[in-house]
Amino acid sequence: MSKDKRKLVVIALGGNAIKQSNENGTAEEQFRNVEVTCEQLVKMNTLGYKLVITHGNGPQAGNLLIQQEEGKELVPAQPLDVVGAMTQGQIGYMFQNTLQNYFRQIGKEIPITSLITQVLVKKDDPDFNDPSKPVGPFYTEEEAKRLEKEKNYVVKKVKPNGEKLWRRVVPSPEPYTIIEAESIKALIEARAIVIASGGGGIPVMKKDDDSLSGLEAVIDKDKAGNKLAQEVNADIFLVLTDVENACINFGKPDEKALQKISVAEAEEYLAAGHFLAGSMGPKVTAAIRFVKAGGEKAIITSLQKAADALEGKAGTIIEK
Ligand code: ADP
Ligand code: MG
Repeated sequence: MSKDKRKLVVIALGGNAIKQSNENGTAEEQFRNVEVTCEQLVKMNTLGYKLVITHGNGPQAGNLLIQQEEGKELVPAQPLDVVGAMTQGQIGYMFQNTLQNYFRQIGKEIPITSLITQVLVKKDDPDFNDPSKPVGPFYTEEEAKRLEKEKNYVVKKVKPNGEKLWRRVVPSPEPYTIIEAESIKALIEARAIVIASGGGGIPVMKKDDDSLSGLEAVIDKDKAGNKLAQEVNADIFLVLTDVENACINFGKPDEKALQKISVAEAEEYLAAGHFLAGSMGPKVTAAIRFVKAGGEKAIITSLQKAADALEGKAGTIIEK
């Protein structure tokens, strides 16, 4: 048993923690955003929490996919699972480097490690029959139809008007288990801050001979974050995004920010359609699953309010 009695928080960072939507994604921009995020992480460490960090990779994977496509006459394009691994390395490095520099400034010696993480999904997941997650660049209808033929892509029209309305869609299966869970736990035991399961993890499937093989699919990072939180026995699951609260009647005149709510209330609001699929929906779903599985509380809030929310002073807090 660990002698370290501090509470363990698994933090799921949204896209804006690394790249703002109005930015191109230069390394400088990304480092600047990561710095702001790391200030919050240092605060949480100072408040006395053990930290495991997971993060999205949508914009980074999107840019890398463009590089695969544009560069394919010169060097072979890499498939989606490999691109996922590349973004885990890229973003992990940015967090490792920035956090280490912050702790060095205040004279704290803390091991900080990113771990390439695979997440097992099930063969019979229904999303394999009806892919739902758009990835990579936008195409014209002509380009999309060509890719459909040449590369067997599933393409969908994802915008009502404009020039390039089409995108490739890939399955977004449910996460089943975190393959590297034991390694992550060992690092936590060693008092490390761990960055894991980036971009929802690299989806892998078990073959008949029991070997694991990577998939052209994407796992929702909030759902994978909940799996991670459960498998490392986190006390708190903290989802950080670009809004301070989950709201009911979102975007309507009677919009109301949710503060402390029970799992039953969250389930009721979710069923009533208050949280959009693909954004707030998966966050609330992940939060409900975490608390139902025995977690102390799940919190959804903004990056800026992260430390306050841990102290119960901000955010949407979901408890039994
Ligand atoms: P992230 O990169 O953090 O996962 P998302 O865009 O996926 O960010 O999710 C956050 C967004 O969810 C918010 O910016 C907001 O527009 C949207 N959203 C949808 N439904 C709600 C709701 N009921 N309450 C608050 N935000 C909501
Ligand atoms: Mg999201």
